[in-house]
Formats: sequence, structure tokens, C-alpha cells
Amino acid sequence: MQKRIVVLTGAGISAESGIKTFRDDNGMWKQYRFEEVASPEAWHKHPEVVLDFYNQRRKNVVEAEPNAAHKALVKLEDYFDVKIITQNVDDLHERAGSSDVIHLHGEIRKARSSNDPRLIYPIKGWQLNMGDKGEDGEQLRPHVVWFGEPVPYIEPAMEITREADILLIVGTSLNVYPAASLFQYASKKIPKFYVDPDANAEIQIPNLKIMKEKAGSALPDLVPHLIDNYM
Ligand code: NAD
Repeated sequence: MQKRIVVLTGAGISAESGIKTFRDDNGMWKQYRFEEVASPEAWHKHPEVVLDFYNQRRKNVVEAEPNAAHKALVKLEDYFDVKIITQNVDDLHERAGSSDVIHLHGEIRKARSSNDPRLIYPIKGWQLNMGDKGEDGEQLRPHVVWFGEPVPYIEPAMEITREADILLIVGTSLNVYPAASLFQYASKKIPKFYVDPDANAEIQIPNLKIMKEKAGSALPDLVPHLIDNYM
């Protein structure tokens, strides 16, 4: 049986594709107050402002391309059982070719009914507007998890992480819970690698190698290293 590699990714893996992170010095939350654009209260107060915020983010994602880090992870699938658990709402892992991706915080290129979370639709292009409705006649909202909303896939993500033989953590400040606590479910014994130029110094887990590098330069070297040494 193939060994399982679990990869936890955050906004940093998409930074070199031109998608802004949230908490870096020039990140998104320096420009916007999240309560105003990414919360159920904001949707209730001014849905058009929320839609416009996500339309701009979606345009950015549609125009972006997967980078060397997304592509390097795809190669692992020839040798390992690879499960990607991402906090990102972009689709750059899928467009690079990764086949097993869980989006903890939703998918920006999809919309869903504001009344029935089971009614999910792909968005053509990048705009979702007031008046766009689902088959239930309700206004569509972005298919993303807002602050204060539950994270639907957190339980399966914990199970998957528990069964990891190797853990990679890439481009996340490990600040947003519950995603940030996932790595703690991995076995103490397995090798772990954390790639982030500004890696969270408070993370202390056994067998962790911290690589303070950009994902786009670190992963194309780390992937062949894993194939040669851990298969
Ligand atoms: P974050 O903004 O808190 O942290 C980003 C991390 O990426 C930082 O630690 C930073 O040092 C690191 N980083 C920056 N450039 C990097 C590079 N080239 N290579 C590797 N690492 C790099 O983001 P987070 O930890 O993912 O926070 C979670 C929240 O951000 C989630 O809610 C997620 O949904 C959201 N988010 C997603 C996207 C996206 O879909 N691409 C973009 C922005 C934010």
C-alpha cells in the first residue's frame, strides 16, 4: 500500500500566483474589515457589498495560474496516496492537476442558495450578482465559509490527518481555527515539514522540520527528496 501524505495548505501557497494572503503586511485584512465583507452579519446588512468583494477576489482567482508549488504537489501522486486539505477558496490545486482536495473554507468559483446549503452551482466567469437565484428562487451567495460559520469538513479532515504517514504544512500562519489545530491530529512519530518564509514560531510538534522558504522554490526540491527518501 502507498504511504499517505497529507498536505495542509494556506493562502501562502497561492501568493506566488498573485493571490493576496490575508494576514501578511500587504494582505487583504489590511484593506478590508472582515466583519464588513465576510460574515453573515455583513450579508444581512449589505449583500451587494459582500458580492462585490467576492467578485473582485474571484476575478483575481480566474486570472491567476497555478505556480511551481501547486505543480510540484501533483508529482507526489505517482508515488504516494496524497490528500490535500486547503484553507484556500481558490481552485489552483485542482487546475494544477491534484485529484484529492478538501476545501475547508469553501470554493470561491461556486455559489449556493442563501437558504439551502445543498444547492451549489459553478459560477461562469467571475461575477455573482444580486438577482442571481438558485432553483429554490433564493438569492445565491458565495460558497465560502464566513467568520462565525461552521467548517463543514473539519471532522473528515481530522480523520485524514490522523492517518498521515508524512505531513506537509505549506503557506499558512496557523492562525485561523479550527484549521490551525489540524496538524495536532497527526501521529507524533511521523515526519513533518512546514514551508513558510514567516513560519509560526509557536508551533512545537515532534519531528517537525521548519523550512523558512517560499513554497514556489521549496516544494520543487522537497518533492523529489520525499520520493527518494520516504517512499
Ligand atoms: P494567512 O494570510 O493567515 O497566512 C499566509 C501565510 O502564508 C503566512 O504565514 C505567510 O508567511 C505565508 N506566505 C506568504 N508568501 C508565501 C510563499 N510564497 N510561500 C509560502 N508561504 C508564504 O493565510 P492562512 O493561514 O491561509 O489563513 C487562513 C485564511 O485565509 C483562510 O480563511 C483562507 O480561507 C484565507 N485565504 C485564502 C486565500 C486563497 O484562497 N488563495 C487567499 C487569502 C486568504
